[in-house]
Amino acid sequence: MESTPPDDCSVKVAVHIRPLIGDERLQGCKDCVTVVSGEPQVQIGSHSFTFDHVYGSCGSPSTDMYEQCAAPLVDGLFQGYNATVLAYGQTGSGKTYTMGTGSGDSSQTGGIVPQVMNSLFTKIETLKDQIEFQIHVSFIEIHKEEVQDLLDPSNSKSDTTSNGKVAHVPGKPPIQIRETSNGVITLAGSTEVSVSTLKEMAACLDQGSISRATGSTNMNNQSSRSHAIFTITVEQMRKINTDSPDNGSLKEEYLCAKLHLVDLAGSERAKRTGSDGMRFKEGVHINKGLLALGNVISALGDEKKRKDGAHVPYRDSKLTRLLQDSLGGNSRTVMIACISPADINAEETLNTLKYANRAR
Ligand code: ADP
Ligand code: MG
Repeated sequence: MESTPPDDCSVKVAVHIRPLIGDERLQGCKDCVTVVSGEPQVQIGSHSFTFDHVYGSCGSPSTDMYEQCAAPLVDGLFQGYNATVLAYGQTGSGKTYTMGTGSGDSSQTGGIVPQVMNSLFTKIETLKDQIEFQIHVSFIEIHKEEVQDLLDPSNSKSDTTSNGKVAHVPGKPPIQIRETSNGVITLAGSTEVSVSTLKEMAACLDQGSISRATGSTNMNNQSSRSHAIFTITVEQMRKINTDSPDNGSLKEEYLCAKLHLVDLAGSERAKRTGSDGMRFKEGVHINKGLLALGNVISALGDEKKRKDGAHVPYRDSKLTRLLQDSLGGNSRTVMIACISPADINAEETLNTLKYANRAR
C-alpha cells in the first residue's frame, strides 16, 4: 500500500499570479512582477525568488496547477496520507479564486477544491467494487482564535461524547480541537456530513461558502480576517480474500486519511486606524495564526527539526493545532502563495513572497 515514499514531499510552495483586475486597470496600475522565462522564478524590484512552481502571468498556465499541486495529494489520500493545501496572500490576491470556494458557486470548476472533489469521486467510482468508502466533510472557520462551524452553526447536533460536558449556546456551538492518544486531531462539536456523491459534497461546499460570506456576525468583512478550512475525510475498508479454501476467511484492511483545503485569512498587516480597536484586535489574532503557520512550515522545511517533532510549534495557534496531524510527518503540504501583479500592491506582494520563500 505504501507505494509512495513521503520523503520528498514535506512542503511544496507555488506562486499564483493573477492578472490585473478591473479596479487596478482603472487606476492605471502597472505590472511589477516578472517571471523568469521557463523557470519557477519570480522577480519584483531587485528581489528574486525561486519556488516549486509559478502560475499565471507568463509562468505555467494555471490549468496545470491542479495536476501539479493537488492531484498527488488526492492520490496520497487513497494510500492513507493526510494532506493540506493552503492559499496564502493579501486580501484580493486571488486565494478564494484559486481554491474555488467563492460563495455558493462550486460550479467555478477551475478552482482547486472543485477539481479535488471531481477527481476524488472519479477515483472512487473505479475502486468501489473492491473497496468500501465512507466520505465525510466538515467546513469550519477560525476567527479571532475561535472555531466556527460553517455547515451547521444554528442547528448543530449535540455532542455525543460520554461526559456530556459540552454546553450549547444557540447558534454558537463551542468547537474544541482535541488530540487522541495516537495523535489524531479531532474537532469536537463540529458538523461532519457524510456524503456519497459529488453533488452532495458540492452542496456542503456551497452551503459553507454562503454561510461564510453572510457570516453570523455583522462584520462585513469577516471572511478576509478568518481562515476557512474545508476538510474531506476518506475512510476505506478493503476486504482481502485470504487464499485458504478451507475457511475462506476475509481479512479487512482499514485506511483513513484527510485532506484540509484552507483559504487563509488575508496576510496584509493589521492597520492601526485608531478609530477601530476591534479591527486591530482581530488583526492581532490573525497574525497569530499566520505567524504560527510560518514558523511551523519553516521548521518542517528544516531537516533537523523535522526529525524531532518537539521543535515544531504547532500549539501556538488554533490553525496550526488543527492542522497538526496533516502538516509534516507523513503528510503532504502545498502552499499556494497568491499575488497581485499591480504596483500599488508591491509591498504586500513582496511580503507574501518572503513568507512563501521562508516556507521552502
Ligand atoms: P482573495 O480571496 O485573496 O481576497 P479573490 O479570490 O476574491 O481574492 O480575488 C479577488 C478578485 O480577483 C476577484 O474578483 C477574482 O475574481 C479576481 N481574480 C483572482 N484571481 C484571478 C485569476 N487568476 N484570474 C482572473 N481573475 C482573478
Ligand atoms: Mg477570499
